[in-house]
Amino acid sequence: MTTADDLPADLRADDGSDDEGDDGVGEPALLTNGVLAQVFHDIGDLLEVKGELVFKTVAYHRAADAIGRSPVEVARAYRDGHPPDIPGVGRAISDKLAELATTGRLGYHERLLAEFPPTLLDILRVPGLGPRTVRQIYTTLGIATLDELRDAAASGRLRGLRGLSARTEQLILEGIAGIETRERRLLLHQARDIVAEVVAQVGALEGVRRVVPAGSWRRRRETIGDLDFLAEADVPADVVDRFAALPSVAAVINRGPAKAAVELGGRGPQIDLMLMPSGAAGTYLMHFTGSKEHNVRLRARARDRGWSLSEKGFLPIGEDGQPLAGDAAELRTFESEAQAYEFLGLPYIEPELREDRGEIEAALAGRLPRLVQLDDLRGDLHSHSDWSDGSHPIEAMAEAARRRGHAYQVLTDHSISLAIARGLSPERVEEQRAVIAGLNRRFAAEEDAGTAPPETSPEGFRLLHGCELEIRADGRLDYEDELLATFDLVVASLHVGRRQTRAELTARTLTAIRNPHVDVIAHPSGRMIGTRDDLDLDWDAVYAEAARTGTVLEMNGSPHRLDLAVERARHAIEVGCLVSIDSDAHRTAEFDHLEWGVSQARRAWVEPPVVLNTRSRADLLAYVRRQDP
Ligand SMILES: [Zn+2]
Ligand SMILES: [Zn+2]
Repeated sequence: MTTADDLPADLRADDGSDDEGDDGVGEPALLTNGVLAQVFHDIGDLLEVKGELVFKTVAYHRAADAIGRSPVEVARAYRDGHPPDIPGVGRAISDKLAELATTGRLGYHERLLAEFPPTLLDILRVPGLGPRTVRQIYTTLGIATLDELRDAAASGRLRGLRGLSARTEQLILEGIAGIETRERRLLLHQARDIVAEVVAQVGALEGVRRVVPAGSWRRRRETIGDLDFLAEADVPADVVDRFAALPSVAAVINRGPAKAAVELGGRGPQIDLMLMPSGAAGTYLMHFTGSKEHNVRLRARARDRGWSLSEKGFLPIGEDGQPLAGDAAELRTFESEAQAYEFLGLPYIEPELREDRGEIEAALAGRLPRLVQLDDLRGDLHSHSDWSDGSHPIEAMAEAARRRGHAYQVLTDHSISLAIARGLSPERVEEQRAVIAGLNRRFAAEEDAGTAPPETSPEGFRLLHGCELEIRADGRLDYEDELLATFDLVVASLHVGRRQTRAELTARTLTAIRNPHVDVIAHPSGRMIGTRDDLDLDWDAVYAEAARTGTVLEMNGSPHRLDLAVERARHAIEVGCLVSIDSDAHRTAEFDHLEWGVSQARRAWVEPPVVLNTRSRADLLAYVRRQDP
């Protein structure tokens, strides 16, 4: 919870005096949540260009999104003198909201806009161009629009500026092209928050019996475009009206008697709501969960059995090959998806598998995988504390892991050469070992005395000592073997020298895989979704060597990474590799990233036995010590 006292001084109170509206006749029109949100997003962007602290600009963006998606009409609530409780909105932003709601204007916003041309906001959206650079380009070259930026990059005029090279110009040109073609997509944790809000708001509408999210979110794709929801209601048209009138809806894109597509306020995605009659959810869920490819297979199978399949249900096919109509047409509907699959002669297929990547064949052969799930995990092999680049102390991280019911958490702060992440010197490693030993003595004593938290695993909980070992650009590992041998578990990864040749990058990765003290390769491809490509590796060599040595390949659960990707993980397992599903948490709340690691693993057909951290603590330690002398 952010309190006013945590905020920088000028977020705590409105800076500068308010401009009173001087035309002062009548009440200004009521601003929608969407318009309010846009004002605060603008402020966040403009403060970035000014070079304000990231913390402060993020606070504005977070508040803007919460305002945009709020279930109440925010401006009206302020005018009525009952400001709603909105997450992320503290005193300072609340004061600004009050000014906007009552006068229709915000002096602070107008003063910021006067400082910069508004088109600078477009330039800020170019990936890799930080606000500081945008300001530099603007003040030294007078560049204020995307077109001017493209021209300057193409004619080589940027490379003279501090920190800018020919390579940067190339990246800027690619970035501009990307902006122009790419639609805005959500990462999983962003989608989760919006899904929860929409389910709550639609579920509260009069006449709605239940709401179910469907679409690519239900299949847990890596990124999500539109969000699809199904709602069960007796009078669909009434519910469509009430949905379209929600304060969180910024625009209605289209609507019919039983459906509507809208845009949410803030920088929200498109939301598609489909109403369905009670008791017929089975085929609706199938249809709106997808994928398209999976549904094509299901419809073909229905046709082979004499039925036409649509979202509404199954209709018998007549002798002319068309679905029967009129009295002869008895629509078969099903309450649940499992019943609808059964009608097709298939077992239930988990949403994460529905991509037509062999799941229909496996279902027919009785070979569907028993997919790993969150409560199969007994611990987590990759996390950070404030000793390196995490936000929370070791004890807070350990307590949070213990209260998740895990039997172990491996603390893997960065190794010495990763200076930007405050990597640990060998001396600090020894100090950390003592801190961990002290905590574990307390955990053991509490377990013996029966005073451990009730959530504690039946195995008890121990914090294990590991490190995230840097594979240096020169190909060497960051700690000597003697030091590596003292850790419970070592996670190795590569953050620097990413642009080397395939041969060099592969050799570096293989060096780590072959070291007997290295147990896990973390985020093996090094990608960041939407912003950084995979490392150029000889993947077959990586899989083969990992399988031969028993070195585990990580499925990193950070929603920005999800690394290994699905196809790579499936391939690795086919050739005999083990994987781990890790959070890479840098703060206690990020232990939730395990959920995304699990959904990614499920999409890759991963079963519990090939996941190292489904094992008990004793079995885990036995596995990682098998090679040690
Ligand atoms: Zn890392
Ligand atoms: Zn890490």
